[in-house]
Amino acid sequence: MRKNNELQIEIDDVYGCPGHCPGCVLSSIEKKSIQADMNINTFNQTIGSLEKFILKLSDLEKINITYGIGDHFLMNDSYLKYTYQKGSELIKKFNDFYPNDYHQSNGIFYSSSMIGKYETIMQKVHFLKSLEDTHQTPIYILAVLDPKHLYHKKFSEVYHKNIIDSQKILKKIDLSINLSIEAIHKITPEELFMFAIDNHFHEVTINWTPTEDNFIYSYMHNHILTNWLINFFEISVKTQKEKNITIGTSFVPVIMRTIDNLRCKEPEIQTLHESVDFNFYDLSYKSIQIDHLGQFFPKYEAIGDIGHGSRFGFNPIGNVHTDDIFDSFQNKSKYHQYEMMKNVSFKQCQQCDFQKYCANSGFHVYNKIISNQIKNKKNILITEKIKSNEKTGCWHPAKNLFEYFEKITTNK
Ligand code: SF4
Repeated sequence: MRKNNELQIEIDDVYGCPGHCPGCVLSSIEKKSIQADMNINTFNQTIGSLEKFILKLSDLEKINITYGIGDHFLMNDSYLKYTYQKGSELIKKFNDFYPNDYHQSNGIFYSSSMIGKYETIMQKVHFLKSLEDTHQTPIYILAVLDPKHLYHKKFSEVYHKNIIDSQKILKKIDLSINLSIEAIHKITPEELFMFAIDNHFHEVTINWTPTEDNFIYSYMHNHILTNWLINFFEISVKTQKEKNITIGTSFVPVIMRTIDNLRCKEPEIQTLHESVDFNFYDLSYKSIQIDHLGQFFPKYEAIGDIGHGSRFGFNPIGNVHTDDIFDSFQNKSKYHQYEMMKNVSFKQCQQCDFQKYCANSGFHVYNKIISNQIKNKKNILITEKIKSNEKTGCWHPAKNLFEYFEKITTNK
């Protein structure tokens, strides 16, 4: 397996958001929150625990901290300043501990919907830019693009300006989109790609995260979703050839890396259990999500990030108030490894060529979410849809995506 030298930390401190993306992981109640959801004591404890954690990992080169999941531009300046300074101190400690050439890119990401009055958004962006200029730790904005605002008669102009002018100031805005059937119908892969190119974005993060709340908007059209993703990839390859412009996407590197890692596996790695055990340290210790209560979980990648979080029914590794992060990973890894394997042992997975790929990436989490839906039997339409997808060989787009990308890698 290729070594993973980057520590990714997601701290879920804010859930409030004025947006209404149908594919969002947050519930409508969570989005109503108007202040930080992580209290300051838990926040400080989180940073303190992470300081100890980074000193125990011995093989890192890069670090990034993401403050998620909601809209941080709803927070006041003193909150932004405090969280930035704390994150910046953590990154500086990391840089001292792991001296190397990658320090300029180690930074702090804030998620934002970019919805709001132009003056308000610009004030926040200028404020963050002044913090960055003073402390020199890069700030990135994870701008969640809602295509319905992009084309909305009333909001379109302001929304465009909010995103584009923020990019001109900070120059480090990553676009992200929560896929749902509405989002797919509102924006084609070409339109999204050209929007990113025309406005000099370097990265488009594509998230697909079905949840109990958004299932009806996110799950029902798997083949359309798969085609949309493949189209997006094909356009990026074509544009790269024609114009020599590259835009990073979240899901393609994950799929390629997963295929690559498991194909080039060491000869002694044969079984599903061996592969999960072998990859666990690089996959799980180095990507960690901490929720508003201080509970921490391993976070995986599939079509966007998707962790073993409590919102999907997983137990935490521990809590920053009571547990050492590194020690807890060592003590609790068996439970999470079990979940990685259990969630690829459904009937259709047992015969599938990609069982190890799903277990060793975030695709197994989709199975957990879908199997919870089956158990709950809350919605007949959804249950029927799951059954009909099962007949195609997979509950979600994983199989078609792995088939498509595996063909590409073998024809290279
Ligand atoms: S691709 Fe689908 S069917 Fe195959 S192991 Fe993954 S989830 Fe199961």
